[in-house]
Amino acid sequence: MKKIFALMLLTFVVFNIMLPSVSDSKSKEKTKKNKAVTTEPVISDVPKVEIKNQKPKGWQPEIKVGILSKDSKVVVKTIKIEEYLRGVLPKEMSPSFNEEALKAQAVAARTFALKNRKRHQAEGYDLCNTTHCQVYNGLSDAHERTDRAIDDTFGEVLFYNEKLIEASFHTDSGGMTENSVDVWGTDFPYLRASTEIKTKTMPWTVKISLKDFSKKLADNKKNVGNVKLVKVTNLEIGKLTNDRSTSGRVKELTVVGSAAQIKLTGNEMRSLFALKSTMFDVAINGDEIVISGYGWGHGIGLSQYGAQAFAEKGYTYSDILAHYYKGTTLKRLY
Ligand SMILES: [Zn+2]
Repeated sequence: MKKIFALMLLTFVVFNIMLPSVSDSKSKEKTKKNKAVTTEPVISDVPKVEIKNQKPKGWQPEIKVGILSKDSKVVVKTIKIEEYLRGVLPKEMSPSFNEEALKAQAVAARTFALKNRKRHQAEGYDLCNTTHCQVYNGLSDAHERTDRAIDDTFGEVLFYNEKLIEASFHTDSGGMTENSVDVWGTDFPYLRASTEIKTKTMPWTVKISLKDFSKKLADNKKNVGNVKLVKVTNLEIGKLTNDRSTSGRVKELTVVGSAAQIKLTGNEMRSLFALKSTMFDVAINGDEIVISGYGWGHGIGLSQYGAQAFAEKGYTYSDILAHYYKGTTLKRLY
């Protein structure tokens, strides 16, 4: 078994070195497409490499997926990665999305799977089949539109400095994606705040009584007595302030109560009150706290609805990937 793994690793490394080169024909086609949408100055970063199908599609890596059942038993299935993606993609993005958005998502999901192959190594498999890794419930979820997006991008993955990237993605950025350092504390140079075609997307509101808000804080060892005031600069998407990040997401806010005053991070607020994102404003209205925001998810990497908006404007999947993953290179690995 170890030998097989070593052989696979070696093949992986060899393929890494023998990566395909730039294709001229596709670059020309892309330039033409970009011309049609020059009124949209959002994408400044152009992809460095275009894919040319030089090699016949053949060998591909296999991954071990841990299928978690209700009685918490794990069944390990070894699946070819492209087949695994057929089950994953429709669970990550609606098959009704534009084909260029689906292709961008296929590359992101493939890159994520290969990058995170050792995530469950200690448990005897590569990836689990839940949202912790990527949802996979078998090929019964496969759809012809997502299948085509996978086939059209066969073996294509994203690299930065010769390494596979953390191809993070989320549902909707709300108007601007986020620097990874502002959410995770880790600065990935390719996961930087990126503008969107549409802003103030997926608006949401959460209302909590001041009493429940105060109790929730107290229950989580953040007792301030009765909450009187919540202080944070007003949200302006794309405006950096001392308490908001580059995209405008809340980095930190101050809660003033009858007994104490505390600071909470945007992420703490998000998890305490199950908020869709950290791109929000807070107001006190009578005996209620009103939290209103935009977007859904952590905001790092590719925004799925953002990708859809770019695709509808005529951008290709490689344009979309280059926009959300700055300075990365798209390569066909096998
Ligand atoms: Zn997992």
